[in-house]
Amino acid sequence: MIFSVMTLFPEYVDTICSESIIGRARESGFITVLPVNMRDYSKDRHRRVDDTPYGGGKGMLIAAPVVCDCHADVLRKLKGTVRTVYMSPQGSLFTQKTAARLAGYDNIIVVCGHYEGIDARAIDMIADEEISVGDYVVTGGELPACLLIDAVSRLCPGVLSDKECYENESFSSGLLEYPQYTRPRTFEGVSVPQVLLDGNHEDIEKWRRREALRITADKRPDLL
Ligand code: SAM
Repeated sequence: MIFSVMTLFPEYVDTICSESIIGRARESGFITVLPVNMRDYSKDRHRRVDDTPYGGGKGMLIAAPVVCDCHADVLRKLKGTVRTVYMSPQGSLFTQKTAARLAGYDNIIVVCGHYEGIDARAIDMIADEEISVGDYVVTGGELPACLLIDAVSRLCPGVLSDKECYENESFSSGLLEYPQYTRPRTFEGVSVPQVLLDGNHEDIEKWRRREALRITADKRPDLL
């Protein structure tokens, strides 16, 4: 999977995606994260990329030619299936289902707005879909893009050591995950449930299913 991230802050994306599991997945070549600086596509001699909105109003917009030229250049270099996603508070809400669907593409081009956003014509011309990470507004698309890259990467072959790591996880099965425990057996007088210590795998599976249902009903009844 190749993620090409169109941004004005390439180091921001590169830094976040260099840590922990995602960083190791990049190093091992299971995924590629390529931040692309949209500023490199500015034809302005001061490398300006933004301008004031028509009709007035506060803030600046990233201009359409810069975004479209950058997208055309990125697209030209890719092989296989491609999906272009604009990170936007106006998009459809990002879920585990979205992550699973996007994991089926060979390439994802992630477009990050900044300031007041991007000229609407560019979004209409290049984006296959708009995705939001929640009903709130952040300053730029970089953090939302990293979130999307992380969630999709975990579903790409080789990134996690075992498919089971995500198959039982919250949302994958439609339920929240059952509670988990590690050593010590007793902590501050509270013991690990006995069934997990007895070693009967059938009983453990039944207990986990019951707990997953109980926790989902308690914390997120809307999922049931
Ligand atoms: N003026 C825009 C509006 O009201 O819809 C908000 C612009 S926001 C300050 C700047 C950029 O941050 C957006 O272009 C988008 O790329 C990103 N962004 C902000 N909130 C987001 C969210 N909830 N999900 C995804 N991207 C977001």
